[in-house]
Amino acid sequence: MAIEKTFSIIKPDAVERGLIAEILKMITDSGLKIKGMKMIHMDRAKAEGFYAVHSERPFFGELVDYMISGPVVVSCLEGESAIEKYRALMGATNPAEAAEGTIRAAYGQDIQNNSCHGSDGPDTAKTEVAYFFNDNELVG
Ligand code: UDP
Repeated sequence: MAIEKTFSIIKPDAVERGLIAEILKMITDSGLKIKGMKMIHMDRAKAEGFYAVHSERPFFGELVDYMISGPVVVSCLEGESAIEKYRALMGATNPAEAAEGTIRAAYGQDIQNNSCHGSDGPDTAKTEVAYFFNDNELVG
């Protein structure tokens, strides 16, 4: 088991509904540590770049519109098996299929407005953290 970093977004639907504290509590209760965090409002280019891997998917346009519809909270999380651990804490992409006790089961509204993002593997974790944070914005 290794200490890993992963990348998290509290998405616009959750920020809009005042759920930042609730979601951060679930994250820290799980044992993950916050190594960097900020609230931002992405512009279209930033969101398109972030979701470039989905650019050919039919939902891409709506996904980008949603991600720039309001502010989000981006964080770098760290812990033992942080990538897998945070994916498990988020639950399935579709909140209707998310297991009880997960962020998406508790707060997700539908397959798009699903409250949170988490990196899906070591390479994306590294890329995504670097896409939003400079080294000097992360605590040691
Ligand atoms: N999404 C969507 N419609 C879909 C599938 C996904 O709007 O049919 C959105 C949803 O917000 C999801 C994001 O696109 O979180 C990225 O999709 P992915 O399959 O990578 O899911 P995740 O890794 O976020 O669970």
